[in-house]
Amino acid sequence: MSTNISWTDLTDNIIRVKEGGWWCQKVSEGCKNCYSEKLNQNSFFGGNKQPYSGQPPELVLDTEAIRKWGFQRKPKKHFVSSMTDVFGEWVPRFWQREMLDGMFVAPNQIFQILTKRPEIMLSSINEWLDSHGLDKLPANIWVGTSVENQQTADKRIPILLQIPVVVRFLSCEPLLEEIDFIQAGVFQRLISDNYQRELVNEDIQWFILGGESGPKSRPCHIEWIESIVNQCRESKTPVFVKQLGANAYLGGQRFKTCDLKGGKIEEFPEHLQIREFPLSMHE
Ligand code: SF4
Repeated sequence: MSTNISWTDLTDNIIRVKEGGWWCQKVSEGCKNCYSEKLNQNSFFGGNKQPYSGQPPELVLDTEAIRKWGFQRKPKKHFVSSMTDVFGEWVPRFWQREMLDGMFVAPNQIFQILTKRPEIMLSSINEWLDSHGLDKLPANIWVGTSVENQQTADKRIPILLQIPVVVRFLSCEPLLEEIDFIQAGVFQRLISDNYQRELVNEDIQWFILGGESGPKSRPCHIEWIESIVNQCRESKTPVFVKQLGANAYLGGQRFKTCDLKGGKIEEFPEHLQIREFPLSMHE
């Protein structure tokens, strides 16, 4: 399905509720104003009005959508899945294997998988790699975790770093506070051969940054985005500034934008008008 998420081309929601709509389980602060739950409250968009809490309803895996990946000729970036967490505790392991199998036989497509549960992603991917005799995921499968604050960064990033893959990425959205990525294990401050202090990153290939959007959005201080962009610049890490959010601040003052999500690049401060992709992208 085409999408207005600026860092991908398509969203493929391969897991749905049998009766219609979607389901997920909130897991951390970043889920508080979940856009997917809001969409699911709206039957006009195909939602079933169930909250993203309690026990999972009966779900189905769209195996036909997975099968079609292998027949797509034009290379596209697919965000799988935007409406739930495919590595949720409630998702059967064999569904995750079927998904990875479908990606494996579609090497000209790029798949972007994002989770807030990297511990399940790690063990499921390791099982899949073992069963295929591989030591690393193919380059067309990118894996990422969402980090919204220091606590989730410190917890999730060290697990993501253990996943053997070519492209690992971080989605810092909704960015809820300043995050120290040296503390979280992404960057290291080293002294170079010519005695300069250098910021080094070898393990995360891409950052996506964004403030929260939608009603009751929590504030995002543009300085938090700026600080990550500076670290990415210094360590030569590609960064994609997606949006400033609906409640952005700069220098302690509200930073108003015409776009409700603060997602129009021309409205960003000039030095933050950056939308890069990982260097290994084969398009
Ligand atoms: S993991 Fe993602 S989709 Fe699931 S509740 Fe949290 S924000 Fe929503």
